[in-house]
Amino acid sequence: MSSSEFDLIARHFARPGTGRSDVVLGIGDDAALLRPPPGMELVAAIDTLVAGVHFPLDTDAESIGHKALAVNLSDLAAMGAAPAWAMLALTLPQVDERWLADFSRGFFALARAHDVALVGGDTTRGPLTISVQVQGFVTPGEAFRRGGARPGDLIYVTGTLGDASLALLLASAPGVVPPEEFAWLRGRLDRPQPRVAEALRLRGWVRAAIDVSDGLLADLGHVLEASEVGATLALDRLPQSPAFRTCLEAMGDAHPILRRFTSGLAWADLALTAGDDYELCFTVDPANAARLNALAADGMVCTCIGVIDATPGLRCRLADGTSYGPQRRGYDHFAGGPA
Ligand code: ADP
Ligand code: MG
Repeated sequence: MSSSEFDLIARHFARPGTGRSDVVLGIGDDAALLRPPPGMELVAAIDTLVAGVHFPLDTDAESIGHKALAVNLSDLAAMGAAPAWAMLALTLPQVDERWLADFSRGFFALARAHDVALVGGDTTRGPLTISVQVQGFVTPGEAFRRGGARPGDLIYVTGTLGDASLALLLASAPGVVPPEEFAWLRGRLDRPQPRVAEALRLRGWVRAAIDVSDGLLADLGHVLEASEVGATLALDRLPQSPAFRTCLEAMGDAHPILRRFTSGLAWADLALTAGDDYELCFTVDPANAARLNALAADGMVCTCIGVIDATPGLRCRLADGTSYGPQRRGYDHFAGGPA
């Protein structure tokens, strides 16, 4: 990039930091100089968003800035880590001052909310692509891993499932559902809330955790595989938002938009197999159920959806006890459907 273009980037990204004292040297030199807290383990994650693949092309720049950081903070939350630093690799088709201002507003609003300092990055020209790398800390041995689930553990999920993917399905025909509900669902797609606070409150007694980015079945499947266990889910307990329920009722299971995606129960298939929720799925020793209920009573939105079994495989039961198996397993960016 030319020096004037770099000035533009510097204006939007080299902001006074969050005041973190562990950033010895941030943006401006050849590399950042960082001081991890003594004795802590460093947790690092990176995720890339490609325009038209990981977000619809009509997504506003402020939401893209938010989401690029949010999906990474979600990975730190899934490890039980306290976030600290971020780096941003931005590939832009052209330098657009207005777009950069909006993007950085979305990025920094979320960064401030989680006390994350942007300490460096890279800026190149090309098709719109955003990579964010984040780092955080955990007490040694306390990271939530995928491999810690044991038979008898209760399985929980934060928030609600299926909202973002329903918004994506409806993107081509939003008029099919009430506008307020669509706007709320679209907010879940564009501005996922990383469950960092929830993860930090759960520290010390999560046995296994993962964030749900590719659909509950696929992501819980990774936990089961890593832990060498199975699970049974109570589908009637899958948390659904009021907007999700209202929209599915308005459409009916036979609606062509849903039929492109599901050949069974639309609500279950969306909640189980559609991506972009960025909720946490975790297991706890059943002896800790009362502590979780106390957290839930204290405002933490989490729901017990099933139990870990010794028998491998994932079984899903409807309220009447019959088993149900969706045709699809995981998110594949709606291959063959809308982008
Ligand atoms: P170099 O050529 O040494 O890699 P760059 O010109 O790529 O240096 O970057 C100069 C400084 O600006 C570095 O500190 C880098 O981390 C920072 N930087 C570049 N692009 C971004 C960005 N999009 N967001 C944050 N910091 C950035
Ligand atoms: Mg560089």
